[in-house]
Amino acid sequence: MKQTNLTILGSTGSIGTQALEIVRANPGQFRVIALTGNSNWKLLAEQVNEFRPEIAVLTDETNAELFRTAVRDSDITLMFGNAELAAVAGTARHDMVLNALVGFSGFIPTLSALEAGHKVALANKESLVVGGELLSGYVNKRHDRIIPVDSEHSAILQCLVGEPCKEVEKLTITASGGPFRTWSLEQMNKITVKDALNHPNWDMGAKITIDSATMMNKGLEIIEAHWFFDIPPEKIDAVVHPQSIIHSMVTFTDGSTKAQMGVPDMKLPIHYALTYPGRQYLDTPRLDWSKAQQLTFEPVDYERFPCLKLAVDALAEGGLAPAILNASNEIAVARFLNGEISYIDIARVVRHCLENRDSSEEVTIDNLIHTDKETRVKAKAFRA
Ligand code: NAD
Ligand code: MG
Repeated sequence: MKQTNLTILGSTGSIGTQALEIVRANPGQFRVIALTGNSNWKLLAEQVNEFRPEIAVLTDETNAELFRTAVRDSDITLMFGNAELAAVAGTARHDMVLNALVGFSGFIPTLSALEAGHKVALANKESLVVGGELLSGYVNKRHDRIIPVDSEHSAILQCLVGEPCKEVEKLTITASGGPFRTWSLEQMNKITVKDALNHPNWDMGAKITIDSATMMNKGLEIIEAHWFFDIPPEKIDAVVHPQSIIHSMVTFTDGSTKAQMGVPDMKLPIHYALTYPGRQYLDTPRLDWSKAQQLTFEPVDYERFPCLKLAVDALAEGGLAPAILNASNEIAVARFLNGEISYIDIARVVRHCLENRDSSEEVTIDNLIHTDKETRVKAKAFRA
């Protein structure tokens, strides 16, 4: 088996550390070329000392000297800052870049890796949400340039393998419903940060955990699915499936529906992306069909989860609307986590930014960067 030269952007995060567990468990299959982290210099240094990549990038330079001292091997090139990270995504000697960055910070590195001809295993859904129009040129029928890591999109890809694309009638993206699935609107007024960080099925980074609690995550995933699979928005539905066993479904024009199932464990979709189009052994828990269990489904509720509706509307509007949705949501989530605004204010901040915007401009890299910056200022200034 040919060794994969792998770079992991955001190796210190939830997806990044799970990817390194896969690398550790499969000696000889991957060679780590570059690792990156933002502020957690201690963990990045530990990873660098263990996996001995050619390059390591710490984007937050505050602790650059401590990081330098903690890295034992002087042959490893150490770099600092976001521009260096994007440059490494394009220029390092990798076959594949796993983009496990969070938020808009992932977009330029995704573009940079793709432009340079590298394969990208994409966990950073925000790349496609904000810049889907610019990245869609890299999506092909074989799905071997940008490979989904998000569990729902990995499920859809696994359902599509071997099928004629033109016979797809509908994609159904499943959602766990998050911690507030059964809460009333009145109860939702009193949600605390601790409540929102307590996801029933998945253990993830803070931003996506809050996005799951507001169901903005499902909205971002609908936008992501539109660009990944070149399917019009009206053919993409979301359904609540609290057990998180079915990770998504594809219905074909003959009425047949395929579903991909597995225990809720991100290692499975990460591994599938790293080994695609193959499929290899992975040491994860199996579903036990000999035990009684139920798979249930409920419709999504736009009234209690307005962020989901805002995302669906932003996709329908197109242009820069999804970039505004994303930037305002990133700030709203950070403000909620800081205790500055309440849970229900998150949707208010996003709505405010979408409703109070300048003229619609075309999607270019410069316009995306400018819109992202401007929206962040507006979202920070919004008083709930
Ligand atoms: P995380 O917060 O745990 O990790 C994010 C990583 O990005 C860290 O390594 C951090 O150092 C780095 N980072 C953060 N801000 C940065 C910046 N401004 N510049 C450069 N680097 C920065 O996030 P995560 O939960 O691993 O999620 C990563 C991506 O994967 C997100 O887009 C998320 O939506 C997606 N995703 C995550 C999961 C999951 O289970 N965690 C599941 C599906 C999709
Ligand atoms: Mg997902």
